[in-house]
Parts: sequence; C-alpha cells; structure tokens
Amino acid sequence: MIIVLKQGVTDEQIQHVIDHVEGLGFQAHLSRGTYRTIIGVIGDEERLRSEPLSAIPGVASVIPVLPPFKLVSREAHPEETVVDVSGVPVGGGYLAMVAGPCAVESLDQMRRIAEGVKEAGANILRGGAYKPRTSPYSFQGLGKEGLEILRQVGDEFGMPVVTEVTDPRLVEEVSQYADMLQVGARNMQNFVLLKEVGQVDHPVLLKRGMSATVNDWLMSAEYIASKGNSRIVLCERGVRGFDPAMRNLYDVAAVPAAKLLTHLPVIVDPSHATGRPDLIPPCAMAGLAAGADGVHVEVHDQPESAKSDGAQALRPHEYRELMRRLESLAALLHKQIPRPVERA
Ligand code: PEP
Ligand code: MN
Repeated sequence: MIIVLKQGVTDEQIQHVIDHVEGLGFQAHLSRGTYRTIIGVIGDEERLRSEPLSAIPGVASVIPVLPPFKLVSREAHPEETVVDVSGVPVGGGYLAMVAGPCAVESLDQMRRIAEGVKEAGANILRGGAYKPRTSPYSFQGLGKEGLEILRQVGDEFGMPVVTEVTDPRLVEEVSQYADMLQVGARNMQNFVLLKEVGQVDHPVLLKRGMSATVNDWLMSAEYIASKGNSRIVLCERGVRGFDPAMRNLYDVAAVPAAKLLTHLPVIVDPSHATGRPDLIPPCAMAGLAAGADGVHVEVHDQPESAKSDGAQALRPHEYRELMRRLESLAALLHKQIPRPVERA
C-alpha cells in the first residue's frame, strides 16, 4: 500500500500517519520527493484494505499495490485454470461451445434443438428453467419440470448441461440436475447467491453484470472462490450501452483485460451482448480472436414462437455455419473444441 500525502503536509501530520500505521503492526517507509511525500506501507495489504487511512489528516490518497481479489488473480496463480464440466475441459486451450434455447419450453423443443447443436459441434447444452425476466408477466420458465427436461435431453444426447440458478434457495435443487450452474447478469452481485454456489461441487458460469466493471466481475468470482469453489468460467455478455441499435454494448476488450488479471477461463455471449442474430456470428469470431475460451449462443428452431429471447436466437443451420467458421479460427489459434465424453 502506498500512502500519498497532501502538498504542504506538516512534519507532525507525517509522524502521526507513521505512528498510526506502525500502531496497526505495519512498517512505514517515508520517502520525501520535491513535490510530494509518500509513505510505503509493508505488511499484509488485505488487512490494511479495510482501514480508513485516507481519513487521516494530511493523506491525499491511498494506492493499493495488489489487486483486491486474491484467489482468482493471475498473480497468485499464473497458469490458466482448466475447468472440467462433466468431462468437457474449458480454458487452457480448450474451448467451450455452449448452445441451446434461452428457455426450456418442452421435451420436444429441447430434443430438436439439442440434436441440432450437438451435430453442429456444441459441447455444452444450455436452457433456462428458472428465468430472470424484467417483467413479472413474462414467461418465468418451467422451473423443476424444465430442469428434468434439460437433464433428460442432456443425457440422451450425451452433453453436459448448464442452467441458471436465480435464487440461493434453489441452488440445491438446480445442482441435482445441472452439470454447471449459471449465475446471470442480474445476479452477479447477489452475494448470498455467490456464497451459496461457492459451496457446491459444480462449475459455475458467472455472467458479467450489465453495469459491472471488470474489477466488480472478478470480485464476484472471488466471492465464489472464497467459499471453496474455484471452478468458475466468466462470461462477457455485454454491458448497458447508449445505442438502441444493439441490445447491449459488447465489450470485447474485457476478455483480454480480464484474462490478464485472472487465471479463470473467460467466454463470450454474443447473443445477449448484441441481441441480433445478424451480429452474433461476427461478434462470436471477434470474441474468439480476442482470446475467449469459448462462445455461448442461444439457438432455437422456431424463434418466432420462442417463449423468451426468440428475436436473438440463431436457427440450428445458422449455428452450424457459425461453428464451421469458429472451428477454422480455433485451428488457427491452436485451440481445441473438445467433444463431450460418451457416457454409457
Ligand atoms: C440467459 O442466459 O438467458 C440470460 C438471462 O443471460 P444474462 O444473465 O446474461 O442476461
Ligand atoms: Mn436469454
């Protein structure tokens, strides 16, 4: 931690800062420059972070030296983490291709879509059973029945499944059916939920909140990791923008920015980021080119009658075409798209 002192700080004030810091059990190193005087504080920065040092008279600012997240930081763990999603490795050169409808609507719908995306090369099947909707009057998802359908279809097609858990009280139930738990954008800072998913033995897909900074996002991952679960995959899904031409503002720079700071895999979701089927393929390619560890796409075989997010869904044949292009790019980047393991 570096304490920058105000211009014109008195010797008494400087001594008071040093006494205060040493009184907390830290070492203080004074450095007087021509224009500014600073104090370097040596010791466990984590413990110092909660001290209101900037409130001491004469202090201009307090600059931490380490990132506020530890467990998920690349500093603490330079090698990339590979998250195992029931046999599908994600990260460290392995790409997650997550695809499926926004919401599970029926057994037949899930079967048709799963068949299409599996054949196209997706390795994780998605489908929302508990849907976080802006309006309480919109389709809220099939709930437990949706989980049962998703699990059944995942098993039939030999694909691990990911679905959103919207409430801490549902973590146990959703964990019984899903291979991976999604924490959605609207819940990225639901700290009770983060702590709850931190206590289960399932990988977590943590979407970026729509007004979250990269730092906020990594702090949310830290919440999960701090409870013992480091099997986290981050997902960039766009932040609130100003332009109604797109649903959100696709922040592709956040992918390499986050990956410089964390060892966790980062994937992109161009479906929610753009909200437009015509923009999903180029934005999926851009995400992969920027270093993403996978692509998450909503696919529906009848978008016109979908119960949620139909307007942004790719049709199975469009997804297949996109996958061909993603496969070429993956080969160029020396990355692999693993196939799900066949289970007996
Ligand atoms: C979803 O995956 O369908 C979803 C609601 O995503 P997000 O939380 O990113 O809006
Ligand atoms: Mn959706």
